[in-house]
Amino acid sequence: MPELPEVEVTRLGLTPLISGKVCDVKIRNHSLRWPVNSNLKTILKSQELKSLSRRGKYILAAFSSGYLIIHLGMSGKISIASEKKEPIKHDHIDIYFNMGKSKKIFRYNDTRRFGAIIWTDEDPFKHKLLSSLGPEPLSDQFNASYLYEKVKRKKQLIKSTIMDSNVVVGVGNIYASESLFLAGIKPQRKSQKIKKKEIEVLVRSIKIVIQSAIKKGGSTLNDFYSVNGQSGYFQNEHKVYARENQPCTNCDEKISQIRISQRSSFYCNKCQV
Ligand SMILES: [Zn+2]
Repeated sequence: MPELPEVEVTRLGLTPLISGKVCDVKIRNHSLRWPVNSNLKTILKSQELKSLSRRGKYILAAFSSGYLIIHLGMSGKISIASEKKEPIKHDHIDIYFNMGKSKKIFRYNDTRRFGAIIWTDEDPFKHKLLSSLGPEPLSDQFNASYLYEKVKRKKQLIKSTIMDSNVVVGVGNIYASESLFLAGIKPQRKSQKIKKKEIEVLVRSIKIVIQSAIKKGGSTLNDFYSVNGQSGYFQNEHKVYARENQPCTNCDEKISQIRISQRSSFYCNKCQV
């Protein structure tokens, strides 16, 4: 599943389309998580792509008269294709951009079709999908006092808390396990039992893990590829994730696995308290 770093890498990969004007839209399959607006071609025609930003795992493509809110769901991938490149299976949506001398295609592929492409001509941050999202992990708003306030009365396990997008966005399953390892905190501890000092370390750890994953091009457990077709390689550097029974890189203890909220969680019984 694409997590925040993959989405950010995708956004960066799409920046060559900025200032292009839409000249055609082809929708081969409307049924994503929500049906794709069947007027999309009429709406987007002749509109210029002004900018690309990101909020959580949503990419916001700003056009002259509104926004496309894009979510990759479980298996969405976006590539920039040339006109010569024939669509393959699961290439559901093509948006053609006139770039002056050439045309470029924004091509959305999604095997499982849990992704979303939604048009809005209103403030996208007020859209129901985005309005209740917590702060970005790399923003100053996400700091130790903020997180401490959030956890201090929560009985929920700490791993579930940091994966709650109302608390902080973009800390998916892999990055939650990795951040907790770096912070030395067991994933199955109750949120309210975690001391302020530990929260400080945890916030720092989340920022480090997310930042370094973005730098390395995102993780690629299943089928994530960045827009230029290169696969990320952060998975080679996971310290605990998917490393059950392998030696801890820090102390040689075997990495343990437990299920938390139906998700696999990995930790070192010695390095994490
Ligand atoms: Zn260890």
